[in-house]
Amino acid sequence: MLHRALSIVAAILILTSCASVGPSFAPRTPCVAGAFTVTDDFAGARRGQCVVVADDSVQVTILPEDEGYINDSPWYAFRVSPNTASTVTITLRYDGGHHRYRPKISHDGLHWATLDESNVSVSRRGRKATIRIATDGTPFWIAGQEIITPIFYDAWNQKIAATGLAALSVLGESRSKIPVFVLNANAAADNVLLLIGRQHPPEVTGAIAFFAFFEQLMGDTELAAKFRQRFNIIAVPLLNPDGVIGGNWRHNLGGTDLNRDWGPFEQPETRLVKNLLDQLDTSGKKIRVFLDFHSTKRNVFYTQNDDNPTVPPHFTRDWLEPARRRIKGYDFDNEENPVDAVGVSKNYMYKRYGIPSMTYEVGDETDREAIRHAATVFAEELMKLMLEQDYLRPFVPGAS
Ligand SMILES: [Zn+2]
Repeated sequence: MLHRALSIVAAILILTSCASVGPSFAPRTPCVAGAFTVTDDFAGARRGQCVVVADDSVQVTILPEDEGYINDSPWYAFRVSPNTASTVTITLRYDGGHHRYRPKISHDGLHWATLDESNVSVSRRGRKATIRIATDGTPFWIAGQEIITPIFYDAWNQKIAATGLAALSVLGESRSKIPVFVLNANAAADNVLLLIGRQHPPEVTGAIAFFAFFEQLMGDTELAAKFRQRFNIIAVPLLNPDGVIGGNWRHNLGGTDLNRDWGPFEQPETRLVKNLLDQLDTSGKKIRVFLDFHSTKRNVFYTQNDDNPTVPPHFTRDWLEPARRRIKGYDFDNEENPVDAVGVSKNYMYKRYGIPSMTYEVGDETDREAIRHAATVFAEELMKLMLEQDYLRPFVPGAS
């Protein structure tokens, strides 16, 4: 009797699972449901196995790029092509992470909007997020953040170079032989401001801040002109092009978190930076301030604390507090921490040069206009403060 009951349960389970699971499509294979197709054949895309649940519904697995340790930054990006006006349902099933990035939508790949909360339901534990969109039949992209890939950087770099204010050149190549570019303004000056961007692929809000910040340095203002006369500005906007193209959550193509490799310099991308630093040292240049642009769940600067005095002293406070008074709609923290052994860029730069070395973190969902406004003010205040320093005077520890 019991045996028969179990058989019936088993039969029901088999029938239900068969009824609810349709064809399954591997990554890089168009996932064809009755009402629409999901593709991931473009730079920045990330989508795992895609299972057709119904004509108008699929479930997509979102998983990281490799087996190594990867923090919970589950990037996803794919294109949806509806056959007709209809409502499509796409469930993201996270394998190795939790829903973090509010889905963004674009119809042209350039302009993006955050999907309304009414379009997205997230499971209690955050392992699944279901997106429902009423479409007019035209294709669109869905991604964790705006998709900003090397082709976008190329256009932006060219735009900067066309002003004649900064020279664009190839610093070297990534592991997959993609060029890593460097912008260099006023190479004749001895004192250097060094900026690094996009070590971590999904950290797009950091990139948005980087663009606005650098544009302000190149701006048509008296302050920026004076700054450019006095300082050499060097920027590597995109240090991890392979990771960005691959839609990685964290790593480069070598399965490494680049921002844990400052010191060992075992990866081709971080070695490019080391070579750059060595060259600057050899030529007698002095890096005075270092900024590395990232994203996290809030707006925060990670800086040194008083146990690790910088040259000049308490520089980050003197920079960020006047900026705070001017900035509207962008709350941020200045988190001063002791320098430790972790191979992040700011630790390395502090240990090598004793200079203010900051991680400039922007919140994942911070309003984009507020990011740009704040970056503009941060750039202005940084220029003012650096111009006030007497960098010719030798630093005496303890004096201020
Ligand atoms: Zn980061």
